Amino acid sequence: MIGKQGAGKGTQCSKLAAALGIAHISTGDMLRSAVKAGTEFGIMANEYMERGDLVPDEVILGIVEERLVQADCRDVGFVLDGFPRTWAQAIALDDLLAPDGVKLVINLDVPTEVVLDRLSSRRVCTGCGRTYSIYKPPSSDWTCDDCGHEVIQRADDTPEAISRRLALYDEVTSPLISWYEAKGKLVTIPGDRDFNDVAAEIAVAVDSAK
Ligand code: AMP
Repeated sequence: MIGKQGAGKGTQCSKLAAALGIAHISTGDMLRSAVKAGTEFGIMANEYMERGDLVPDEVILGIVEERLVQADCRDVGFVLDGFPRTWAQAIALDDLLAPDGVKLVINLDVPTEVVLDRLSSRRVCTGCGRTYSIYKPPSSDWTCDDCGHEVIQRADDTPEAISRRLALYDEVTSPLISWYEAKGKLVTIPGDRDFNDVAAEIAVAVDSAK
């Protein structure tokens, strides 16, 4: 699934993967786990993430390749969330999945002004990752309704990092949309609607691609 930061890729991918019984592979979540665990790799990645920059291709390719060769992905399939984001990543993914490449690319399309508001109002649980917003906070004092951990603003949801991330999306990631379209693999779904309506449209696109 491809789309601007804040388009709702994380929640839609997680619903889709659960419905299909396949792995949800989010490079952002993998990186955030490494940051939380304080590994050397996490400390290095965090420098890029906090600025809103992309983590270097070779680093991301290493973790994605390692994950995709595992039995669940190889035998059953997977939903990729937040990958590929650059030409080098898209080409490496094609090679990895040769000869067919990816089966379907969903472009979750949301206008920039909407994602700007979503990102700046977004708050996330430090325990389970559940997403809230300043308009829909947890029921008690920024403590997660599901797991009780603190709910905070992501370090890369600051105004400077948000504008850097959206600029990078336009420059580096959005050209992949026409590339996948030319390959006949792309379905664009407007994401600025009710969550369940978007999820239903995604499910239809996936069914027709099967
Ligand atoms: P996300 O949660 O998908 O917005 O990812 C958060 C941050 O992780 C991004 O702003 C990047 O710094 C980094 N990141 C996630 N996926 C990638 C990727 N495919 N390539 C490079 N950096 C990535």
